[in-house]
Amino acid sequence: MDLRFTPDEAAFRDEVRAFIRDNLPADIRERMRLGYGPRKEDTVRWQRILNKRGWAAISWPEEHGGPGWTAIQKMIFLEENQVAPAPELSSFNITMLGPVLIQFGTDEQKKRFLPRAANLDDWWCQGFSEPGAGSDLASLKTAAKRDGDHYVVNGQKIWTSTAHHADWCFLLVRTNPNAAKRQEGISFLLVDMKTPGITVRPIISIDGSHHLNEVFFDDVRVPVENRVYEENKGWDVAKFLLGNERTGIARLGKSKERVRSAKEMARSVREGGKPLIEDAAFRQRIAQLEVDMKALEITQYRVVSAYDKQRDGRPDPLSSVLKVKGTELLQSTTELAMDVGGPMSMPIWAEELAALSNEPDVGPEWATQATGSYLFLRAASIYGGTNEIQKNILTKAVLRL
Ligand SMILES: Cc1cc2nc3c(=O)[nH]c(=O)nc-3n(C[C@H](O)[C@H](O)[C@H](O)COP(=O)(O)OP(=O)(O)OC[C@H]3O[C@@H](n4cnc5c(N)ncnc54)[C@H](O)[C@@H]3O)c2cc1C
Repeated sequence: MDLRFTPDEAAFRDEVRAFIRDNLPADIRERMRLGYGPRKEDTVRWQRILNKRGWAAISWPEEHGGPGWTAIQKMIFLEENQVAPAPELSSFNITMLGPVLIQFGTDEQKKRFLPRAANLDDWWCQGFSEPGAGSDLASLKTAAKRDGDHYVVNGQKIWTSTAHHADWCFLLVRTNPNAAKRQEGISFLLVDMKTPGITVRPIISIDGSHHLNEVFFDDVRVPVENRVYEENKGWDVAKFLLGNERTGIARLGKSKERVRSAKEMARSVREGGKPLIEDAAFRQRIAQLEVDMKALEITQYRVVSAYDKQRDGRPDPLSSVLKVKGTELLQSTTELAMDVGGPMSMPIWAEELAALSNEPDVGPEWATQATGSYLFLRAASIYGGTNEIQKNILTKAVLRL
């Protein structure tokens, strides 16, 4: 099997690399190189620059504003964007909501929401998980009762990433509590976060940052025209969306960037009288990670190019390998970066809490930020479907259960 890029793909990679080099604002690149996550305004600014170039809605067909790329081109773009390092596109807007509306939405919904989603004029969040409904999502309880031309929503969501920034939420609700199968009584709604009755409460994660939230719905009135697809058929929409969520989830460019930056920092850190980069055990650790990244890269291109040829739009169960290995690597490369800093990596916590602390950080920003990333990315093997669930999917596929 020939796994080299074609000349066209190599030229495309050079074009993407040059565009990012010339257009990513220096202040955003500098923050990200130090290991900070992008702020909302950074993500918005960068996505709008990409959208102007026609490169934001990467997984949408051309007639809806997408660039018409192959799956390989998408992977190339995502990796170059991560390695830069640049803020990632809003996955809620681009990978989840957009394809859902294109597949299931009315013309009116497409016209109203797609261009704004591509340009990040609306910031979307995902209201799926609930206390007691995560891996077993079909057990969700948030209820929507029909009242004339509205649904009245009551219930609670949890782990809702960036809900505090969001203008809109795509929400799974139970519209028929008496359906024979739990999956048959669920609907998919688009909810304006400014609607009265919605309360967003922060959850501060172990890295000290505010990314996650609980969202409460008390008699929230949602127009029926904001339902996507048929009533009680929301499970079909959710399954489609979660399939898309796995595409690109390996985030290999992020791991590559971490190793690159750890190597750079290891030149300035001294261990046993010499730069850490010259330490044999450290070099062996780097070599192992680079071998693992290369193996994942080859697997990724095999899965993605097969997917391109298959073209029936269904997610390949092998994408679960990418999720499991990709998140394991993301975690071990971040651990590497933290270990390079050693005692300097002890943070006086993330930006949100720094204002409350009288103590300065011990080490430089790159070291303390590495610890923040390390702690936050413990979650990478949980979000987007836990790695245990991915292994169940793989087992079923391999054993053809
Ligand atoms: C950082 C972060 C961001 C998130 N963002 C969002 C968001 O924006 N919107 C949203 O809706 N949700 C979000 N989530 C929620 C996420 O989708 C769930 O946490 C995830 O699906 C797991 O569900 P749970 O937390 O209820 O754990 P559970 O499902 O209760 O799982 C607990 C443990 O049991 C294991 N387990 C469960 N079932 C099985 C099984 N059948 N076989 C083997 N092992 C099993 C799991 O792997 C896990 O280790 C986010 C989560 C995190 C950590």
